Amino acid sequence: MQDVIIIGCGVIGAACAYELSKYDVSVTVLEKSNDVANGTTKANSAIVHAGYDPMPGTKMAKLNVDGNRMMGEICKKLDIPFKRIGSHVLAFSEKEMETVHELYRRGTENGVPDMKILTGDEVRKMEPNISEDVVGSLYAPSAGIISPWELTLAMIETAVRNGTNLQLEAPVTAIKKKDGIFHVTTPKGEFTASIIINAAGNHAENIHEMIGVKEFTIQPCRGEYYLLDKSEGTRVGSVVFQCPSERGKGILVAPTVHGNLIVGPDSVNVDDPDDTSNTAAGLDYVRKMATLSVPSISFRDNIRNFAGIRANHSGDDFLIGESKTVEGFYNIAGIKSPGLSSAPAIALEAVDYVNSKFELKKKESYCDSRTRIKFKELSDEEKAEIIKKNPLYGRVICRCETVTEGEIVDAIHSPVPPTTINGVKRRVGAGMGRCQGGFCAPRVQEILSRELGVDMEEILMDGPGSYILTGRTKGGNAE
Ligand SMILES: Cc1cc2nc3c(=O)[nH]c(=O)nc-3n(C[C@H](O)[C@H](O)[C@H](O)COP(=O)(O)OP(=O)(O)OC[C@H]3O[C@@H](n4cnc5c(N)ncnc54)[C@H](O)[C@@H]3O)c2cc1C
Repeated sequence: MQDVIIIGCGVIGAACAYELSKYDVSVTVLEKSNDVANGTTKANSAIVHAGYDPMPGTKMAKLNVDGNRMMGEICKKLDIPFKRIGSHVLAFSEKEMETVHELYRRGTENGVPDMKILTGDEVRKMEPNISEDVVGSLYAPSAGIISPWELTLAMIETAVRNGTNLQLEAPVTAIKKKDGIFHVTTPKGEFTASIIINAAGNHAENIHEMIGVKEFTIQPCRGEYYLLDKSEGTRVGSVVFQCPSERGKGILVAPTVHGNLIVGPDSVNVDDPDDTSNTAAGLDYVRKMATLSVPSISFRDNIRNFAGIRANHSGDDFLIGESKTVEGFYNIAGIKSPGLSSAPAIALEAVDYVNSKFELKKKESYCDSRTRIKFKELSDEEKAEIIKKNPLYGRVICRCETVTEGEIVDAIHSPVPPTTINGVKRRVGAGMGRCQGGFCAPRVQEILSRELGVDMEEILMDGPGSYILTGRTKGGNAE
């Protein structure tokens, strides 16, 4: 019996586990996939928003600005790439300048620091590749870029090192409450707890309905992207948005923390919460709109397309709080953008809730740090030293990103180990370069097979069923 069960290990479930692991409370995290961060958290714009977009007075506004403020310290402690590079919301007309002024007013009320309204010439001085048609922008220096899956991994890894029980491949299929205790059914057995935190993203509605009457409906909404090669990574130096509309925050162009250029997303409602397919129409729209902001983007240098699914619902705010019908059942649902930016602050709300039931006490010994060896960032002397200690660091597996066998083996034996090729990619970057794993994926497959003691045929590309040697990697039996 646990004190708390968290359902879902995207950035929200991981942030809750991380914050709760600082206290004397037992926590189990149940995740249906074979890895963490395998839902919306791995496929979004990766922006830590400044917080001028949400309406003042909403939870979203407060949690976005608080989350943004907390992000720097968390990323430093847990060794996660995060760069506060600032953002522009571009205006192409005097009418759009009215929106820019409205966002400035909202941002001021929300507590966003140091915003400025710029003229077109001032924008182009900062961003020379911006269109001549731009007449001004809202500049917010506190916006940043991050690696969403590395943030999630770092938080859950730290939680696990401090006692959290993480169960992967544990989809929740039923929940019952008897004598004040929740009984949660998964293929891995039954788990029991006094409190449930529902952080199941696009599936939060189904999880809630397993125990209570319907209180909200999630409308999945897909956004498609281009990810361009590093040769395009300096096309802009900050996050470049367009004015928001009812279709979302507008198409953005931004560098990534790994040095690429990200362009997207569109916004299309879909029936299937897991439908992350790309479409010609969606990508055409993204390309056309992005070119309005930055005409010189070279889409020939595109290395990957992907799509993420927003957990939209009918309201304008996050749905955070105890279920109206079931005591002890805490929903963190409808966490659309800026959910990633808000995650650290959302987790503090969850801690307050658990504290209201248990009176939490801080753990006496807690390890709140994490470091990793990133071979390519070492000096020549450090490289020689580490190869002497462990010759696996002398064997480069991913040539595009200079990732060594030593780093891959370390990851496979970490507290939240990868078991798939994309799991290795998310942890150490092997396969993230221009060839997108064309060269290194078979090597990574061999290493996974050897270290995990399983046959090569059993190694998956990514989600359950994505066999490489014996099945389809896209559509069909892939997740
Ligand atoms: C196109 C797009 C762009 C975005 N851009 C940004 C941005 O730039 N900045 C920003 O702040 N936010 C952004 N967001 C929002 C952000 O990505 C989300 O708010 C955040 O990732 C939500 O995290 P989550 O943990 O709630 O959901 P998820 O990451 O989807 O995690 C939910 C987890 O629950 C698991 N699960 C589901 N059902 C079950 C079950 N039955 N049993 C066990 N586990 C289950 C899933 O496998 C999944 O791992 C964007 C979103 C999209 C779609």
